[in-house]
Amino acid sequence: MTLISAGAALDFRAVSVLDPLTDEQREIRGLVRRLAAERVAPRAAEIDSSAEFPWDVVELFRENDLFGVLYDEEHGGIGASALLTLVAIEELSKVCATSGLILAAQELGSLGIKLAGSDEQKRRFLPRLASGEWLAAYALTEPESGSDSAAMRSSARREGDVYVLNGGKRFITNAGVASLYVVFAKTDPDAGHAGISAFVVEADTPGLKVGRIEPKMGIKGSTTGEVFFDDCRVPVENRLGGEGEGFRLAMRILDRSRPGIAAQGLGLAQGATDYALEYARSRETMGKPIAEHQLIAGMLADMETRCEAARGLLYKVGQLIDEGVEGGPLTKLSAMAKLYCTDVAMDVTTDAVQILGGYGYISEYPVERMMRDAKITQIYEGTNQIQRLVIAREMLKENRTVLLAGAN
Ligand SMILES: Cc1cc2nc3c(=O)[nH]c(=O)nc-3n(C[C@H](O)[C@H](O)[C@H](O)COP(=O)(O)OP(=O)(O)OC[C@H]3O[C@@H](n4cnc5c(N)ncnc54)[C@H](O)[C@@H]3O)c2cc1C
Repeated sequence: MTLISAGAALDFRAVSVLDPLTDEQREIRGLVRRLAAERVAPRAAEIDSSAEFPWDVVELFRENDLFGVLYDEEHGGIGASALLTLVAIEELSKVCATSGLILAAQELGSLGIKLAGSDEQKRRFLPRLASGEWLAAYALTEPESGSDSAAMRSSARREGDVYVLNGGKRFITNAGVASLYVVFAKTDPDAGHAGISAFVVEADTPGLKVGRIEPKMGIKGSTTGEVFFDDCRVPVENRLGGEGEGFRLAMRILDRSRPGIAAQGLGLAQGATDYALEYARSRETMGKPIAEHQLIAGMLADMETRCEAARGLLYKVGQLIDEGVEGGPLTKLSAMAKLYCTDVAMDVTTDAVQILGGYGYISEYPVERMMRDAKITQIYEGTNQIQRLVIAREMLKENRTVLLAGAN
């Protein structure tokens, strides 16, 4: 009987039938796979145990132009592709969800500028994000407003050529490591959603302070922290879009960023499936490999099937974004991908722990970390309850033909 030693090189044999990538995109996926296997996988356990932000992984991404997949060539990228971004996050998250999140968070923090920035704002900010010189953050959540983001209290008061920001954000990914925050605050406190505006705030702006960095269950290398604004003066030219357009922008951003979290979930699920498969091949009980016991074989089959179904949904959303689809159809499919891929991530990583038995529960084996990392994917960028509400709301707007005649 051979046990897979902890830290053994993971052999990703899973071949998906879904491959809508162009030859060039496949080449880039090959590069990401190689970097993930050779450079990121060996660091994953240490990133988790040290809970330190992995600047070396950021440097690896910079050297290999990985941030470039998020941006157009005119802004220093290699040509933005949502599909390729999702594939890259998936590949990285197979070995290290914190590293996958570096790309996902960069996209989350950049989308406001990409979607609503003026040409001047794009020229000013995007090239430094595309090279990875700057990391970005998206600051929406507050202590009293998570799912109910319109209940935010942070304010932005106009004084001549500046807005004066006051308030505090909580649970902000990349707090303390980002050079740029896209911040949502109320320019009209009485106007509800319509009173929210968005601003680019550079990290060194006087009055911006990073507070507590939270210790947490998983994705431990990623920073999650408080960001405070104390009479923080932001130039008017840093406002994204018009006054009062911030809430709509925040939602348009989430339509495009939630698939990134779905990709993180799918990567975790596939990575855990691959590891459990390899383990089940070599671990023997009652005279044969556990993979040949039908209950284990059935679990492996379900895990693989769910990953493949999740991938179908996810890649479809990537293709829709690249085709420029907007509004309801995107909102619905993006929420579906986030919901499905991340529920699959939680279930499949839990099953992987079960397949490894006692070893699955031990930190030396990666599935324990993967299960802890998976949990957050069901919570951030809108909890999965909120995704269900979003999907149902879009369904109720649709005018469907009902084919079966019924009592009413
Ligand atoms: C590690 C981490 C990183 C994060 N990164 C960021 C970031 O970069 N930027 C950012 O802005 N935010 C970030 N967040 C915040 C995150 O998006 C919120 O925590 C999340 O949206 C939930 O908000 P909440 O925690 O206030 O929960 P609440 O809104 O208080 O919800 C509590 C529970 O009630 C449920 N619930 C709430 N309302 C309803 C409803 N109407 N119907 C049914 N159920 C409901 C929720 O699903 C949840 O189960 C991060 C959070 C964490 C933990």
